[in-house]
Formats: sequence, structure tokens, C-alpha cells
Amino acid sequence: MDPIDLPHLDRQISACHLCPLSEGRTLAVPGCGPAPADIMLVGEAPGKEEDLTGKPFVGRAGRLLDGALVQAGLERSKVFITSVIKCRPPQNRKPKKKEIDRCRPYLQSQIEILHPNVICLMGNTAALAVLGRQGIANLRGRILEDRYLVTFHPAAVLRNRNLMNDFVSDLKMLNTGSSRLV
Ligand code: URA
Repeated sequence: MDPIDLPHLDRQISACHLCPLSEGRTLAVPGCGPAPADIMLVGEAPGKEEDLTGKPFVGRAGRLLDGALVQAGLERSKVFITSVIKCRPPQNRKPKKKEIDRCRPYLQSQIEILHPNVICLMGNTAALAVLGRQGIANLRGRILEDRYLVTFHPAAVLRNRNLMNDFVSDLKMLNTGSSRLV
């Protein structure tokens, strides 16, 4: 993919037909936040409310994420938020490898354009798509390869509230991680 600016990339994503997920979408969800961005958060794929609004993390998982960001001392408006997959999978199923492979170049271009100091991979889909590794319990809680932090997906925290403290403490590392890495 050629180097381009973010609005141009957003338009490409919104018009994408590289995989069948485009046929079921209302709106693609490229992501949103400042450009450039010190901190980037990456989830799995849009859900119903994201598909309807075109905005990332605006449903239940998004509201939990908002609360966790506040507890971690991070302002949502200062963080770029996106997902590996830009179109909603039917019935919110897990994205397939082929879909991840088709969509990954968009995330790679976003990373190139935004130059984040630290990239937070929320959940196994993001960790696998970007680092080729999974297993949150083993990967979380430390900066990997100088710029990645793996943590739980907010939907996992919704299912198991006992994860909230660790989720917030991981997000707190983004503050220190982003300044340390400048
Ligand atoms: N889950 C994700 O991974 N991304 C969203 O945008 C919403 C829910």
C-alpha cells in the first residue's frame, strides 16, 4: 500500500471490497483519534453499534473501555482507537484468518501514518494479527518489542469483571510507556 494520509486511507477502508465482510456492513469502522498519535489501541472487530455509527468502541465494550481509560488517567480523545478488522463480522463471530490477512495492511498503514510510540493490542486477535503471538496471560503487563503492550479485550473484561484491575493497570503503562519511548 502506498504511503497516504489518514483521510485518504479512511476513504479506502470505507470503500473496501477485499473480503465478503464488506457485503454485510452498514459502515466500515476505520478508527478515530488524533494524527499523529502517541498511543494507539487496537481491538478485534466492530460490533453492532460500531457498524451503525462508523465509530470504534461505542457499544458496551466501548463504555467499559471509556471507564478503564478514565481510571488509568488517559483521555480517550488523545488516543487513536481502531480494530484489526474494519467491518463487522456476522453475528459478531471471530474474524477468519483470510479476513485478517486482507484487512491487516490497513492497520499497518495506520501505524505508519500515526507513528504511535506505544500500540496496545487488546485481545488475542490483535496480538496474533500484529505480533503473531497469542496467550494474553503470558503476554500482558509489559512492553514487548519496544512498542507493544498486550492486554485483555474490553469484551473479556465485561464477561469477567475480576480482570478490570489488571486491565486498568495495563492501560496505566501506556502513559509511562508512551513518554519513555519518545
Ligand atoms: N470490539 C472491537 O474489537 N472493536 C470495536 O470497535 C468494538 C468492539
